[in-house]
Formats: sequence, structure tokens, C-alpha cells
Amino acid sequence: MASPGRAPALRRVAVLSVHTSPLAQPGTGDAGGMNVYVLQTARELAQRGVEVEIFTRATSSATEPVQEAAPGVLVRNVVAGPFEGLDKRDLPTQLCAFAAGVLREEARRERGYYDLVHSHYWLSGQVGWLARDRWGVPLVHTAHTLAAVKNASLAEGDTPEPAARQIGEQQVVDEADRLIANTVEERDQLVSIHGADPEQVDVVAPGADLTRYHPGDRAAARAELGLDPAETIVTFVGRIQPLKAPDVLLRAAAAMPDRAVRVLVVGGPSGTGLDRPQALIELAAQLGISDRVTFLPPQPPARLAQVYRASDLVAVPSYSESFGLVAIEAQACGTPVVAADVGGLGVAVRDGETGLLVAGHRTDDWAAALTSLVADPGRRARLARAAPEHAAGFSWRHTADGLLASYTAALEDRHLVTVPSGIAAPRGPLRTRGMWKLRRT
Ligand code: UDP
Repeated sequence: MASPGRAPALRRVAVLSVHTSPLAQPGTGDAGGMNVYVLQTARELAQRGVEVEIFTRATSSATEPVQEAAPGVLVRNVVAGPFEGLDKRDLPTQLCAFAAGVLREEARRERGYYDLVHSHYWLSGQVGWLARDRWGVPLVHTAHTLAAVKNASLAEGDTPEPAARQIGEQQVVDEADRLIANTVEERDQLVSIHGADPEQVDVVAPGADLTRYHPGDRAAARAELGLDPAETIVTFVGRIQPLKAPDVLLRAAAAMPDRAVRVLVVGGPSGTGLDRPQALIELAAQLGISDRVTFLPPQPPARLAQVYRASDLVAVPSYSESFGLVAIEAQACGTPVVAADVGGLGVAVRDGETGLLVAGHRTDDWAAALTSLVADPGRRARLARAAPEHAAGFSWRHTADGLLASYTAALEDRHLVTVPSGIAAPRGPLRTRGMWKLRRT
């Protein structure tokens, strides 16, 4: 891969995020880490002089068609299907309309307006490869999650991802010029499940906004949030859905001796199954810990930083997690994390140094892990001291460096290609994987 830095020909990137706007409040519905990722990396790229235009599906008639998210970062809200009420499962029916919106935008510009397409999640990848063919630019794709991986570790009662998604993901892997994986494990999955060329996959870790997430005064944070200064608080932050497993934390808290902790649940409903906060409220009642559980709606970043600071521990019990931004953000605020040993969480948390990794989701194991830290404030303090330094290795600046290196490699690979007549690089269906690095023009 080429060294980081601004690629010579890279002036403007079209970023595709079909199913969720980077301007949506994360922590509920379909808005989560991907939204944060898209917005933060776009900001970083723009600060280095690369303009970013993010295309997303319009979900409100009240929103302007074009919004400036930050200097050099535009969000284009493409009308594709009804503004409201379209189920995520029905989004594939609107990909044609969305693609038309993206292609029409480019058609209004001078040729070569976008230098590269970066698609996020498979729905965007489907549109990305069409744009790539039409514009003759590279397609870089980030899957964020893979259906096959998700389906292999579903929560009880969770709905498996449909075969159509797996087929779609395979197509995007086949078509993309380069793929971005959050971790080495994810790269290996792209290779083993979808046959990606390992050379084509760049491992780029996501980050956290370290200017926002840093240690602070716990007592002040508790006062601001109206939390008891003396209680031991274990917090869950994220979309409330079976895959994120907030119920695992509730069950563990109920099994801990002496009702030792208060559980703070921050986030809103998303997906199917245990998604309604109401279901979690009912579970807390069944477990007899209603008075030990506090629910907060999704919080904007400044308040969320206070939530992390106010917490003694943050729990991330997910069944599957591509990375887990919450784990990094919490550690950046000086709060140790107890996480399930799945996916990227093994990278995000240093087991025994900045938190604990728990194998599986058994109530006893989770109760034991939490109790081991709750009962040992000295150890907790050691983990808390080490956490920000570990988190400092994950900044969006660093992520943007990785993206730029990947973009540069994608642009250079395209430059390496020639067709027999010696005319410029092939466009459209002429491309076949593996043909690209034949000869330098
Ligand atoms: N988040 C937020 N407010 C909330 C809950 C979550 O801003 O109330 C953000 C959080 O800061 C994090 C993201 O949502 O950046 C969740 O990302 P993560 O990778 O942990 O989970 P995902 O949603 O991608 O599955």
C-alpha cells in the first residue's frame, strides 16, 4: 500500500451511505457507529484538502437537499422512496432510484468531478459499483458488518440476515477495487468467506474523537446527569437490539451479590426482538432490579462523554461487533470496559490491562467478571489509568491516514492498467478482478 498522504489526483470523494445519514443522532434506529465513522473521516479528509460529498437517502421532506456537515463536507439527501416509514428490509427496492440520484448529480458536473467512490455497507456498495463503472474511478468499499458473520452468532430470537444480503455482499467484494476492514480478523473473513484478494484489503482501525472523549471530573459528570455520587455504575451505550445484548448486562447485574451496581442503559430502540426499551424495562422488573436500572435516551457526544466519565465500568456484551466505537470512547474517557470477546472488541479492549474480555454470554460469567472489578477498586483504578493511553492509539486522524493510503493505492492501481491499444484504463464491464495490475501505462 502506498504511504499515507494526499494522493496527487484526489480532490473529491463521493461517499455513499444509503441507509443512514451521517447527520442522524447515533444510538437509535439504524444510526450507530457507521454514521460516526462516515462523518468523522469526512471531516478529517476535508481538513487535508480532499472534498467529501456524502450521498444518503432523504428521510424527511423538511431537510434541505444539500447540507454542509463541516467545511468541505456536503451531505446530499437523495430522494429515493418515501421519506418516512420505509423499513430497512425494503431498502433494496430503492437502490435503483438512489443510484439514479447519484448519477444525475454527477452528470450535472464537468467530467471527472469525483475522483473516487467510497461506499459504506453493502447497500451502498451496490450503487458504488455502478457509479464506479460510469465515472471510470476506483471503488473503495467498507462492509462494516457481514451477514455471514452476523448470522453465525445471532442472539436468541434474533432474525437472521437474508440470503439476498450475502449475495449482495459477495457482488460488492467482487467488484470493489479495494476493501477496508476494521481489523485483521475482518480482513481474514473477507478472504475466507467472500474470496477477497488479501492484497486488495486494507486494515484501517476506526477511531474516536479524542478532543471530545477524554478523562474528566466524575463527580461533576454524575451531578450533571443526576446520578448518585456513591453508587457503582455499570453502563451500556448503544442501539437497543438483541445483537447488542443489553439483556446480558441486566441479567448479570441481577446475579451479582448485594445488588452491587446500578445499571445505566443509554440508547434507543433499533431492529427487531428485544429492541423496545419497554422489553428491557419488563426484563428489569422480572429480575427484580427495576430500582437499580436507569434508562437514558440517545445522547449527543458532549453528554455521552459525561456518561462515560460518570460510569465505573462500561459493558459491551454484543454477540457480534465489527469493532465497537463505544469501547474506545469509554476508555478514552478513562473508564474500563468489560466486553464480549467477539470481533473487533478483542482489539478495542486490552484484556486485563484496560478492561476485561468475557468469553460467551452466560450470566454467571458476566456476573463474575463484573464482580471481580467492582470488588477491587484498586484494580479498577489501574485499568482506568491505562485506558486513555490505549484509546489514544485510535484517532480519526489515524483512520483518515489509512483511508488516504487505500485511496492512493486504488488510484495508482487504476493508473497501472492499460488496454492492448494503449488507450486509457478500461471502464465498465471490461474490468475483471486481477486484470488491474497488468502493466504501467
Ligand atoms: N452513540 C451516541 N449516542 C448514544 C449512543 C451511541 O452518539 O446515545 C454513538 C457512540 O458514540 C458510538 C456509536 O453511537 O460512536 C455506536 O458505535 P458502535 O461501534 O459502538 O456500535 P454500532 O452502532 O456501530 O453497532
